[in-house]
Amino acid sequence: MNITPVEISSAQIAETIKLLRYAGRQECILLWLGRREQGLQRIIDVYKPLQEADRDYFEIPRQGMAVLMERLRTKGLYVVSQVHTHPGLAFHSRADDKWAIVRHIGALSIVLPFFAESSTIENFLQEAAVFQLDSSNRWNEVASEHVRDQLRITP
Ligand SMILES: [Zn+2]
Repeated sequence: MNITPVEISSAQIAETIKLLRYAGRQECILLWLGRREQGLQRIIDVYKPLQEADRDYFEIPRQGMAVLMERLRTKGLYVVSQVHTHPGLAFHSRADDKWAIVRHIGALSIVLPFFAESSTIENFLQEAAVFQLDSSNRWNEVASEHVRDQLRITP
């Protein structure tokens, strides 16, 4: 698939890890909001939507979606990627497939294992399992050797 890469700064990765850990031993979902620029999708905002969560579950309630939509409209952004944690291994569950917020072709859905407890800026791309939506609406895992082509972390 020929997909425009996502570009995010190290500071935004640090913010992502901080917010995920702050949730403690609960799943947590974050949205990377951004805009298209020449040849890339640039992340502008690391955003934690209103959510209901438990150890192995999260949901964005209707009100959370409304607040998100308003924010996207006023800032001129879209949801580039979503990131969430799992209590155990990182994979895309059936619920993750079904309830993904990002739905455009080439969208990335990133899952971090063990509540992101051991995630760092340096190991983020190794720890993360990265899934991409194809044109038949299926989420496929991006092979680890290709993750860097899709997701670039700038200094
Ligand atoms: Zn999940």
